[in-house]
Amino acid sequence: MANQLYSPNETRYDGTMKYRRCGRSGVLLPAISLGLWHNFGDVDPLQRSFDIVHHAFDNGITHFDLANNYGPSAGSAEETFGKIITKSLRPYRDELFVSTKAGYDMWAGPYGDWGSRKYLMASLDQSLRRMNLEYVDLFYSHRFDPNTPLEETMQALVDIVRQGKALYVGISNYPTEAAAFAYQYLKERDVPCLIYQGKYSLLVRDPEEKGILQQAKEQGSGFIAFSPLAQGLLTDRYLNGIPADSRMARDGFLKKEVLSNEMLAKIVALNNVAANRGQSLAEMALAWLLKDELVTSVLIGASSVAQLDKNLKAVRNTTFDAEELMQIEEILK
Ligand code: NDP
Repeated sequence: MANQLYSPNETRYDGTMKYRRCGRSGVLLPAISLGLWHNFGDVDPLQRSFDIVHHAFDNGITHFDLANNYGPSAGSAEETFGKIITKSLRPYRDELFVSTKAGYDMWAGPYGDWGSRKYLMASLDQSLRRMNLEYVDLFYSHRFDPNTPLEETMQALVDIVRQGKALYVGISNYPTEAAAFAYQYLKERDVPCLIYQGKYSLLVRDPEEKGILQQAKEQGSGFIAFSPLAQGLLTDRYLNGIPADSRMARDGFLKKEVLSNEMLAKIVALNNVAANRGQSLAEMALAWLLKDELVTSVLIGASSVAQLDKNLKAVRNTTFDAEELMQIEEILK
């Protein structure tokens, strides 16, 4: 139960979970991190949220990723996480690496969106209150704001670190040109950008194609891949239709139109490659990202302990032979 005393698995650091250095920093992140974008809102069963987070921590996942607006309702994922901190994880605070972000629409009026100092500062204060934390390990500018001077957004990040409200800062969804400015600005102020968070999966190749991965490496920054399972497409979830309890059935961020016959054929073919490797499609999709040392961590979502458990297996085999890589590229052409 949510209010029973939690005691974490003593084998959580037994070597099964791998930790990777985040760019040129002192921080190691687990190869698999857990994101609370979906499934942890006030619309979701609280006990399940506790169970998933506990299972993650029990298995060496030390990095939990949030944002001000995760829910629904907006803010409620942070509140859920705050309940978990208060009821079970507080004694392990120094074993946790917690991130949050601001950048998308959060509250009404002119100060609850985009990249102003006003918004970022106020939003982080709100996030800390919701999560019952004194500081976050990592605070992100969630997206580039073309209408705010980037100096203002970056200086807010610098000052947030100086205030002790975040230990590190990162950027997410930034185009490469803006990212170049951000890396430089932060470096010059001795608050180097710890990490770039970008959408990356077998189906979304921008970080490779747009040079984002390479740029992060050159700047000494890590890279964390969000939606590495393409929100569930790269699993067995949709092989036989659209289950009623799936993200696609809710028709929010994952639209039914995505599942064209062509897409389904690709997923089926990828599933066969995975089966030949002795992996599930989800495991292979995560392993394929982790084969690249430029990817510090893959940031997964899960709507059940069982899903999370399956995905954890991905770290067992993250090497691919040339033949497998070719087969995969052929399918995705
Ligand atoms: P994924 O691509 O990992 O998709 C997760 C979803 O896929 C689950 O909720 C579940 O959906 C399904 N799934 C997961 N594992 C399995 C499995 N083994 N078998 C079957 N189905 C499975 O990631 P998300 O899109 O959830 O994003 C992960 C995190 O990335 C977020 O929580 C957030 O922290 C971050 N993010 C950051 C963004 C940014 O702008 N910086 C934007 C988006 C995400 P179902 O509900 O159908 O069970």
